[in-house]
Amino acid sequence: MRTQPTGHRWLPFGLVALTLILATAGCDRATTPRQVALGPTMTATPAGTSRTGTPRAFTSATGTPRVTSTVPVSPGAKRAHRRLTPSQLKKYRPNELGYIPVLEYHAITTDPAKEAQFVRLASDLRADLTWLYKHDFHVISMASFVRNRITAPPGKHPVVLTFDDAQSSQFLFVRDKHGKLVPDPDTAVGVLEAFFTRHPDFGRGGFFAILPDNCFAVPDHEDQMKYCDRKLKWLVDHGYEVGNHTLGHQDLLDVSDAEFKRQIAENILWLEKHAPKNLGTVIAMPYGNYPQKGVHDAQRQMMEDGFTYKGRKFKLEGALMVGSEPSVSPSSELWDPIWIPRIQAADAVLSVWFNEFENGDVILFTSDGNPETVTIPNPVPRLIREEINPDLIRRSGKTLVRYTPPRADHRTRGQPGHIASS
Ligand SMILES: [Zn+2]
Repeated sequence: MRTQPTGHRWLPFGLVALTLILATAGCDRATTPRQVALGPTMTATPAGTSRTGTPRAFTSATGTPRVTSTVPVSPGAKRAHRRLTPSQLKKYRPNELGYIPVLEYHAITTDPAKEAQFVRLASDLRADLTWLYKHDFHVISMASFVRNRITAPPGKHPVVLTFDDAQSSQFLFVRDKHGKLVPDPDTAVGVLEAFFTRHPDFGRGGFFAILPDNCFAVPDHEDQMKYCDRKLKWLVDHGYEVGNHTLGHQDLLDVSDAEFKRQIAENILWLEKHAPKNLGTVIAMPYGNYPQKGVHDAQRQMMEDGFTYKGRKFKLEGALMVGSEPSVSPSSELWDPIWIPRIQAADAVLSVWFNEFENGDVILFTSDGNPETVTIPNPVPRLIREEINPDLIRRSGKTLVRYTPPRADHRTRGQPGHIASS
């Protein structure tokens, strides 16, 4: 059990100021930058996000870490997954207590003049995917992440891609030469689809936080509103996910309990009607704001425990912050799916984090390919040592597998290892 925040482990010095700027939440509808709460470690988080004043990923919500996922292991997942052999452990060097980046995109453009904090060039999105692919990342679904059912191949680092606001630049339909509706290649979906098709071993996916009033037609192509349902279905049919961004992009920092419930539940109800297969139980918090601590504590509890609306129980499986660091593993003692940090996809931010990943300054989650087991090197690397809780892992129904690489540096891959125990 840890009761004292230990401060930020990864955030590079130069990124602090930058994060301070970028973590001021601001999707397309932002009008006023939100106050940025600085903890003792000077890490910026959007107002209302921090319970403790320190980065959520590195401390506990209440001083007492949550010790279990609120999400039951999905039923029917009894497929036979093979355990890695000792030689495979040496080869792949899994570490499923490492960190997982959740990248956060908004609008996409092909016009360099329009590039901005929340507008990314399509060519840069392609470059991001290329970098991730070349550095052994594997795109996983949001559902597998929040439910701790990660099946990235052995040796791969999971990454989750998220897109907020359902703007037109994320997904337009155009007609191909046969007259068939296909994604515009310069929209986010077009870029993703082309890349995944060329790199089938990269995984595929993307979590789109939907605003019903936008539905990939606003602001520039309202004529495409007629394709709303068709686009949602297309996404789900092609391995993407559609989730919650509230009914009307409501800032949830300071609203009544009734409005808090309505904004979350009505988005879920809308998704159920327009996209029967959806992940409306995962919400990207507009502007990154959570109900204000000390003012709306009941709402903060509802985010964890669920609430009743119109006679029906609603329970979130996950909530996404705006900014500013990689997420802890769903098997970490610090994991709380209601407080998932993301990394904003802007050049200045991504270049720093990509550099950290490449240098091994962040201990990344490296998969063992088997969702039934949690494989962790022995000894646990110092930076994440406090996050291991064998009882928690066992209670989640998974088997803890330990192995001992030959050297202390577990981040170095491809060296011969020695399996000491399991
Ligand atoms: Zn937004």
